[in-house]
Amino acid sequence: MCGIVGFSGKKQAAPVLLDGLAKLEYRGYDSAGIAVRDGSKPVEIVKAKGKLKILREMTDEGQAVSGTCGIGHTRWATHGEPSVTNAHPHASDDLNVVGVHNGIIENYQELKAKLIKSGYGFSSSTDTEVAVKLVDYYYKKYNGGPVDALAHAMTRIRGSYALAMMFSEYPGEVYAIRKDSPMIIGVADGESYLASDVPRDIEIHPQRLLRRRP
Ligand code: GLU
Repeated sequence: MCGIVGFSGKKQAAPVLLDGLAKLEYRGYDSAGIAVRDGSKPVEIVKAKGKLKILREMTDEGQAVSGTCGIGHTRWATHGEPSVTNAHPHASDDLNVVGVHNGIIENYQELKAKLIKSGYGFSSSTDTEVAVKLVDYYYKKYNGGPVDALAHAMTRIRGSYALAMMFSEYPGEVYAIRKDSPMIIGVADGESYLASDVPRDIEIHPQRLLRRRP
């Protein structure tokens, strides 16, 4: 099982995402990536095949990627070989939607064929790129915002998944959906966290705040 992390708050997101991914490393992975947003500027995506250490070096421990909102992923390939192209995050060509995914989209080939007919192109072999572009498709088709687009996509997607996504028109926000795959949200003072696993040195407070044990 691979891992998802997300963060939105006042501090820089990239170091938080890299630390979160490090806590999920024990689950196994073949590549890793982060997407970070600095306000309403275009999202920045950095991906690397192999160990998280490589991504850490590429981003100068996250210092080279500026922004207070982001998502990160460690991938265990199910569709497509381990490679930078197949590593997450994946994005729509215009960077309107960027997302990471745990799990398997069972009907991705059928969805991909429909999206190709609607004019979408694909650069990776993953089922994840299909999910991201399907959300982009519904976002633009109905103009109903992220929750509406995700809800429409979920009615079409079969399989088990946890997905975290950012939308260019919604700076500072991370959206998540899940089915059969785990995902938790932590809310603290002015910041929010997302993870596909409960790190072992964190306990869940009754009010759903995440607190580090002393
Ligand atoms: N099925 C996706 C892929 O192959 C996600 C795999 C995972 O859970 O890491 O990229």
